[in-house]
Amino acid sequence: MSGSSHTTDGVVLRATAVGESDLVVALFTRELGRVSAIARGARSSRRRFGGALGLLVHSELALGRRTRGSELWNLERATALDDHAALGGDPVVLGHASYGIELVREMTPAEVPEPAALDLLLGLWRALAPGPSPSLLRAFELALCERLGHGLSLDGCAGCGRSDELDAGAVFDPVRGGAVCRLCAPSCRGLGVRPLAATVRDYLRRAAATSLDDASALVVADDDRVAARDLMLAFVGHIVGKPLRSVAFVVQVHAGLTRPPT
Ligand SMILES: [Zn+2]
Repeated sequence: MSGSSHTTDGVVLRATAVGESDLVVALFTRELGRVSAIARGARSSRRRFGGALGLLVHSELALGRRTRGSELWNLERATALDDHAALGGDPVVLGHASYGIELVREMTPAEVPEPAALDLLLGLWRALAPGPSPSLLRAFELALCERLGHGLSLDGCAGCGRSDELDAGAVFDPVRGGAVCRLCAPSCRGLGVRPLAATVRDYLRRAAATSLDDASALVVADDDRVAARDLMLAFVGHIVGKPLRSVAFVVQVHAGLTRPPT
């Protein structure tokens, strides 16, 4: 084993073709966090990396130190450990799996190890196997945000901290990062501020306290589920600071699926 190379596990967040035969891959690795690496010959020889650089594949990765003056690590070897590519067979599931990838890609700083965030992404993919679930996405978003220092304030007011005025007249403020009580609500005038029903707050608290494997079983009224989705998208959108492509994809898929059959 070379003293200058790192062996760790991780996933591909994005792959970009460069030159005749290479790929530049954005990787999310357990020990190095989010890194960019060049995979030489990845496109000219399928044998070199096999299926290990595919989307939704969890792989062992051997990364060589970058050359002086380069931002890129050198991907020396990649071996598939676990393949979730079958999720791609359902466009809604693929959209949800891609949403997880996009959140990790946009929310993690470069080259900071966040092994718990990798495990959350892998857990999302595992839990998506039986089918898509809005509650699973909520549990994933809440856990990832908490892990990355953007914990949503649901038990106390994001303004004053008190917990006894959140049931009636509370609002959700994506900029302040959570529930804002009846007394502080008049000072919330930013974009995305909306009423926060006690039942929606309760649903999000339950989603935050549930493991990804159990999240799909959460029971919630349709209106509350939609309200929770919209406020979480507003919150995540505020953190990321730009539109999420996977969300647009899922919207398009749903639009196509709900069109009457011809
Ligand atoms: Zn308050």
